[in-house]
Amino acid sequence: MTQKAGMSVHLGIDLGGTSIKMGLVNEGGQIISRLETDTSDDFDTVTRDMAEGVLSLLKKTGLGKKDLPYIGLGVPSTVHPETGRLILANNTGWENAPMREALEEKTGLSVLIANDADCALAGEALCGSAKNQKDVLMLTLGTGVGGAMLINGRLFSGCDGMGMEVGHLPLIAGGPKCTCGASGCVETLVSATGLVLLTKEAIHENPDSLMHKKIKSGIPLDGRLAFSCMEEGDQAAKSVVERYCALLAQTVGGLSNVFRPALVLLGGGVSKAGDALLFRVREALPRFILSYSVIGGPELRLASLGNDAGLIGAAFLKEMSI
Ligand SMILES: [Zn+2]
Repeated sequence: MTQKAGMSVHLGIDLGGTSIKMGLVNEGGQIISRLETDTSDDFDTVTRDMAEGVLSLLKKTGLGKKDLPYIGLGVPSTVHPETGRLILANNTGWENAPMREALEEKTGLSVLIANDADCALAGEALCGSAKNQKDVLMLTLGTGVGGAMLINGRLFSGCDGMGMEVGHLPLIAGGPKCTCGASGCVETLVSATGLVLLTKEAIHENPDSLMHKKIKSGIPLDGRLAFSCMEEGDQAAKSVVERYCALLAQTVGGLSNVFRPALVLLGGGVSKAGDALLFRVREALPRFILSYSVIGGPELRLASLGNDAGLIGAAFLKEMSI
């Protein structure tokens, strides 16, 4: 697609654990041209691939560098707000990596960088499930648990721009060991990894369960197994799902008591379970919300942009005033 003269266009990049997604996004939040490439653990390879992708997208659409206000980049890392360095990217092990500097040098464009959870919420607020909402908490339930929050229409960044690390909120004292060194963090229980751990335990305790039969027949033990077996009537699977949803409701409820969001969005891989997840968390939520019977609690919705949320949000980082 060739971009018409006079229309404003933005460029967003979502650097994920398995792929780099890049796209040109119009003012309405629609991706008008995109490309995707495999990611790598090598910093120079990743920054080179991103720079080449930017040029290739511009060429494809008949645009020049002068047409882009900036490049917005979402990363699975905390980001130093002044230097644009990645403080620690868990997936790749990069520490203090000069991402903004490298990408600006390779593209000649200015670069804005933020944590991928912030970018996903920015995308949802621009044109997804949180559109027109000002006080929103989003939890991304993937390999880990990401969190971001809009307060009065602005992304919460904290005193040092580090944002929220919801995944490392302590949930259960003495719970499973976390990658951060502590135990029982939200991430160890409410992530897809936590769901798999609950599923594994239930399979061990219930050798006659449908889940166990499926594993023996070669079906992978992942975050979908308990939900799919529950639909087929497996009681052990139903217990896993209910335990998981109660832990998630406890997390949402605790954070809601602190921040009082009007809306809580659930995104990430586990949220693909859809209504089976949403309805159970909604049901369990009131007992974790202070004075629920009098003042109620937040609305709970699924994120709607899926894998595109981070890319779209990154493209509008400046407008979301991070
Ligand atoms: Zn932790």
